[in-house]
Amino acid sequence: MIELKNVNKWYGEYHALVDVNETIGTGEVVVVCGPSGSGKSTLIRTINRLEEIQGGNIVLDGQDIHDPRLDVNVLRAGIGFVFQQFNLFPHLTVLENCTLAAIQLGKLSAAEARERAMSLLERVGLAHKAAAIPSQLSGGQQQRVAIARALTLKPPLMLLDEPTSALDPEMVGEVLLVMRDLARDGMTMVCVTHEMGFAREVADRVIFMDQGAVLERATPQDFFNRPQHPRTQKFLSDIR
Ligand code: ATP
Ligand code: MG
Repeated sequence: MIELKNVNKWYGEYHALVDVNETIGTGEVVVVCGPSGSGKSTLIRTINRLEEIQGGNIVLDGQDIHDPRLDVNVLRAGIGFVFQQFNLFPHLTVLENCTLAAIQLGKLSAAEARERAMSLLERVGLAHKAAAIPSQLSGGQQQRVAIARALTLKPPLMLLDEPTSALDPEMVGEVLLVMRDLARDGMTMVCVTHEMGFAREVADRVIFMDQGAVLERATPQDFFNRPQHPRTQKFLSDIR
């Protein structure tokens, strides 16, 4: 479970997160949406401390993530993060990309890491590309590798920041399928996405942000059919 309590963040003078209070339960799938610059990336990046906050706190499974005794590398090893840009290591094979972190962190032996990575590559439909390097793969395939890589450490939580936004339209579906499969499997997920179809079908809850604040949170059904806040109504009519 993730609890964000009165989270506030400034970039210099700019108030990027304004009194954010959210509780995300284990196994819950939360989609974060909102206009460009509303603070969606900032919000999810605070959860693995890629961004520091200046007010409030964030508690992950009972542990304050800003506790000075907590090693930030240990925190991050327990959270899968998938970016818009896949950020695969270009000179490593698909399999090596997936096993690197687990081996470097001493979590798994090389043989165990390979075995786990191969089963995850199988799951995302890419076992046959294990020996390829990223440039030999399509964008959708690279993003599926990035998801498999994030799963190698068996994270109880996945953060995804617009995982399909950099993809050609015909590649989007295959990545969404993998995400849907993860969600159905009970993974706790916080996902920034403009894929409203995914939000509608897969999310347990949708969070709408504007100017650093969460203006609305609702089930997908309520969010799309009965948006309460005028800003949400405008956002939804603009994207329809
Ligand atoms: P998008 O949909 O375009 O990805 P977003 O909702 O993810 O937008 P953020 O990237 O979280 O928005 O940015 C929120 C605000 O904070 C923006 O106004 C942005 O300009 C500002 N911002 C983000 N990162 C920094 C930074 N490193 N330094 C200063 N300002 C920043
Ligand atoms: Mg963003």
